[in-house]
Amino acid sequence: MSRTSVKPNVEFAVEEMTGDARAGTLLIDGRTLETPNLFPVMNFYAGGTENSVYGGGIHRTLKEFMIGADRVDDVNAGEYFDGSMMSVSSLTDYNISRERYEDYLAKPIKERDLFTQYDGLIFIDSGGFKFLNNDGIDGSDFEVEMNQRAVYEIQSAMGGDIIVNLDYPIAPDDSHADRVEKARKTAENIHTFLSVSREFEGAKYLTLQGYNYSMMSEFLEVITDSVPEGVLREGFDGIALGGLVPKKDDRDALIKAVTDCREVMAEWDIDHWPLHVLGISSGAAPILAAIGVDTFDSSTHIHSAINGKYYKSVTEPINIEDVDFSDCDCPVCQSDLLVERMKGNAEYKKDIAGPIAMHNLIVAKHEIAAVRERIQTGDTDALIDYLEETFSHDQTMRRFAHKVVNQSLGGYF
Ligand SMILES: [Zn+2]
Repeated sequence: MSRTSVKPNVEFAVEEMTGDARAGTLLIDGRTLETPNLFPVMNFYAGGTENSVYGGGIHRTLKEFMIGADRVDDVNAGEYFDGSMMSVSSLTDYNISRERYEDYLAKPIKERDLFTQYDGLIFIDSGGFKFLNNDGIDGSDFEVEMNQRAVYEIQSAMGGDIIVNLDYPIAPDDSHADRVEKARKTAENIHTFLSVSREFEGAKYLTLQGYNYSMMSEFLEVITDSVPEGVLREGFDGIALGGLVPKKDDRDALIKAVTDCREVMAEWDIDHWPLHVLGISSGAAPILAAIGVDTFDSSTHIHSAINGKYYKSVTEPINIEDVDFSDCDCPVCQSDLLVERMKGNAEYKKDIAGPIAMHNLIVAKHEIAAVRERIQTGDTDALIDYLEETFSHDQTMRRFAHKVVNQSLGGYF
């Protein structure tokens, strides 16, 4: 029903729309992913070795679920990682040596024996938020200077299916001149990125920064001053909207940014590209899917778990002490061993919080699947009913749900 973008290994097809919401299929290198979809943040390498599933506390436990390890009672939750997000900058979260760094890059993630069962899409972020916005974080532990070329080498060596250029993220207090300068420097990186990634077979997403229409369209204008529009269109397959992390709990700002981004994409005639929104909270996912976001990534299932919060739903995290585990039929809550751990009967915090994070992720993935199924019916009322049911009990969210219904789904009658 709508245009399909076709490159040798990358294809995105929108199959159904209801209001601004769209359901489609993203096909990359032979793997398909139904959209809208949520990519959990993963740290495939967290300073450890193969024996420790490459280490990483709570990330280690999530990886154990991903591969169905015996340490997590053989619970295989691999299906919930059909897409996952890793940041290049997470390599710097642990003080790894040059030797360890080289080992991590020696073979793509999915070609390692440990992860052979894993068949999801891996989105590898550029880490611009950390490398370029934050003093003192760089690749110096393993003696690599972080620049566009180095970041691309890491993304491709790890076997990313979706990658982005290294951008200069804007900050809420940047002046207009700062923003233009950052766009100009990002344009230089885009030049380098497109030339070094010619042989790359996965999908390349262009990072877009901005909170509103004028910021995003100016960003694209500055970029196309030095990278011609035709080159941009040929070189990229999707948009990754960034810079929203400081606003991740401000639902109004998120809705505006996404709505304006869709408008800018339509004007630049790239609205048939998939739109990914970087770093949101899982609670915002159903709302953002309803206004036309195709994929997003989130780590709130982990942060909530660390804070002792268990999702009754993505909009209703409750204290772990108040949970009745028999209410949930997810494989984590069905395991007596894992329920004991979630109750606090374990030596290490990761063994307590890890299963909670996995349960939270399963709840978030079910929620997004439910939204997707409503969109796939093409019936606007089905999606409106869903938003009503999901948010009617929630004072804060209800307002945003109504806003989305009015703005994108034709309103109530
Ligand atoms: Zn559960």
